[in-house]
Amino acid sequence: MEDMVVVRKEGLYCVPGDFYIDPWRPVARAVITHAHADHARMGHAHYLAAAPGAGILRARLGAGINLQALPYGEGISHNGVQLSLHPAGHVLGSAQLRMEHAGRIWVASGDYKLEPDGTCAPFEPVRCHAFITESTFGMPIYRWQPQQDIFEEINQWWRGNAAEGRASVLFCYCFGKAQRILHGIDASIGPIVCHGAVEPLNRLYREAGVALPDTLTVGEAEAGRRGKAAAYAGSLIIAPPSAAGSPWIRRFGDYSDAFASGWMRLRGTRRRRGVDRGFVLSDHADWPALQEAISATGAERIIVTHGQVATMVRWLRQNGLDAGAFATEYGDEETEDGPVPAPATAVMEEDGRHA
Ligand SMILES: [Zn+2]
Ligand SMILES: [Zn+2]
Repeated sequence: MEDMVVVRKEGLYCVPGDFYIDPWRPVARAVITHAHADHARMGHAHYLAAAPGAGILRARLGAGINLQALPYGEGISHNGVQLSLHPAGHVLGSAQLRMEHAGRIWVASGDYKLEPDGTCAPFEPVRCHAFITESTFGMPIYRWQPQQDIFEEINQWWRGNAAEGRASVLFCYCFGKAQRILHGIDASIGPIVCHGAVEPLNRLYREAGVALPDTLTVGEAEAGRRGKAAAYAGSLIIAPPSAAGSPWIRRFGDYSDAFASGWMRLRGTRRRRGVDRGFVLSDHADWPALQEAISATGAERIIVTHGQVATMVRWLRQNGLDAGAFATEYGDEETEDGPVPAPATAVMEEDGRHA
């Protein structure tokens, strides 16, 4: 039987449906799993995406895009293919695409995470014959601690800095990670200041009904205060990695800095980032969660799109599944704000914190 989804130069293509999934070149019809830059690109004639992500898609791609917003779980038919979008638990509005045609069911995952975080609808497994999966952190070294432990580490770091009259600068990606941190931390420790790249996304999350603590812009924090640096003692500052070393960051005077990312699992990343602390917090499934998600689909055919593709395909084949890969242009969402190291060359942490 012919594959329902194949790779073309424009992107993943649903053959009977005649549409693309997160295409990297302009196409007539695109289904978008989520608004990260490597999955949602400009220039398509028609977009279909999950309704909770509509505001962010328009903010990133332009208010005028031709966007059809579909509530999670609601089916539509297109060229004889029954389509529906199901929560992926990755960022606000993230979805897995279920495609049913002639008795066959394929699901394309986009990016996903299994641990619910309160900032987007939790991941839902979808039964299918073929599952197209990401594998960003698909290696056995990637095992996340419960997010509450990480938020507690961040709180302790922030509290300690505040007690010493210092600001705490936390670098993280603007869309998804920043809002998850804001939602998870103890906002009673001190004022929270957000970079201009973060605040518009906070607003969209709040408009979508996600509870985030009050945040200030630099302008608001400095209004009416004479000593600029002193205004930030005890504050938590959330900024994109690209702000590191910039004139913008110098206003905070004496501060401790940290970076929150799944890549902080690698000692080499932390060293290259040159920050005081690294918090291991990822919006992607870790190695056990990838396996759990894949097995929950019941699929006998698995196609890996990006990340640790070779490792994941080998593991799946060893476990008797029909596994292969699609060469895609996904996977650089975390490079939006700076380079991500190649895991193969990074030096592993040896403190056994996640072992
Ligand atoms: Zn993503
Ligand atoms: Zn991705």
